[in-house]
Amino acid sequence: MNHYKNFNRIISGVILFTMLAMPFAGLAQTHVIAPKNPYKAEDDIKLGRQAAAEAEKQFPILNDREVTDYVERVGDRLVEAIPREYQHPEFRFSYKVVNVSDLNAFALPGGFTYVNRGLIEAAKNEGELAGVMAHELSHVALRHGTAQYAKAQKLGIWAGIAAIGGAVLGGQAGAAAAQGLFGVYFMKYSREYERQADTLGAQIMARAGYDPRDLANMFRTLEQQGGKSGPEWLSDHPNPGNRYEAINREASMLPVSNRLRDDRDFNHIRAVLRDMPRARTTQEVGRGGNTRQPTRRTGSRSGEPPSRAMESYRSPNGNYRVNFPANWQTFESQDGGVTFAPDWAIEGNDITRGVIVGAFTPKRQRGYITLDKALNTLINDLSQTNAYLQEDQSGRYRESLAGREALATMLYGQNPSGYNERVWVVARPNGNEVVYMVFIAPENDFRQYQPTFAAMLRSYSLSNNFR
Ligand SMILES: [Zn+2]
Repeated sequence: MNHYKNFNRIISGVILFTMLAMPFAGLAQTHVIAPKNPYKAEDDIKLGRQAAAEAEKQFPILNDREVTDYVERVGDRLVEAIPREYQHPEFRFSYKVVNVSDLNAFALPGGFTYVNRGLIEAAKNEGELAGVMAHELSHVALRHGTAQYAKAQKLGIWAGIAAIGGAVLGGQAGAAAAQGLFGVYFMKYSREYERQADTLGAQIMARAGYDPRDLANMFRTLEQQGGKSGPEWLSDHPNPGNRYEAINREASMLPVSNRLRDDRDFNHIRAVLRDMPRARTTQEVGRGGNTRQPTRRTGSRSGEPPSRAMESYRSPNGNYRVNFPANWQTFESQDGGVTFAPDWAIEGNDITRGVIVGAFTPKRQRGYITLDKALNTLINDLSQTNAYLQEDQSGRYRESLAGREALATMLYGQNPSGYNERVWVVARPNGNEVVYMVFIAPENDFRQYQPTFAAMLRSYSLSNNFR
């Protein structure tokens, strides 16, 4: 089960974009300052790799050396032009073409970059293609994915768990797989981040020998060709305001080095693509089933059973205590929650077996929280990132949590890894908060874990036990 809250809706409140006058060839180009980021660059790679694996299960990758090599050449040229202060030598930029007609491209943290075939076909020249890629690579170089996630963690009630490596996109990937998939990999960045990616993108373009105005032009091309609903890419990269003008203003301050003015390769690749069978839309791919199905596993790998010896955990804020098996790990989240799980049961952002303990204050709550409200809010939150989980409502029953009446239920569903999962959920109000425990195991293993789960539930105590 994925235990990250979908943070798409969280709005950024901090202005991270700063302008400084930097002397450059006598002109003042904008100096972009990457947002604060508590994560290490290696975390970006870890997250990006997970999300890339998920993405490639769901999107048909075009297997054509020539086309892929071409996109890679454009990408390499841009990456080499990233100013030194934004370079992360550990990042490994890679490029794949997705064989769908939609106008889109995305780059995952750490540099895993995907360009839709439709976008290459829509671009008027190599510069426009490079423009979208330079914008995407700027998000990667500025590490916007993990920075945004860190902000979301501060604000979200289902804060992620840094120790596991978090899941910027993995969290969304889980939701994507369950909700009918597409579009969820694409982070909706804040307008500040968009402006930063536009600015740095233009600078990278100029340094790589492209006309940075082509980045602005590409936005026009996307708007014109996007069709009725507009292209996905524009909705994932919202206009920070006066985008076209802002990029062109930046471009006017940028000297273009070793200008490249040759679209022969680009035109050749477009001809190659034209000769291929028509690309489907992502929607058609989603309906018709993918050429690559997610691999089916039957409960994933299992390891050592939970130890009978228990250790006691006390939350950093002192609000609660709970016991956990001595051979399990603890992963604290910034909101005071904790996940207990064996090492081997953590696969990226997913837990195959484990227990989550936490508390949150329901949004827009007025007055008294009922038992039903407590459980419903929790289930609603869980299903944001784990939409495959279904509740058997007839199975709701009264349980005891820290000495007071709580409501419990079972959720079931086939998770994106392809096996059946069971999630036992217990929640109750505590003052203006909801306190909860969530127990996760594959359906086939649940009985084996039940005694451990029950012992953990009984051991849970609260220091401020209201009501
Ligand atoms: Zn963007």
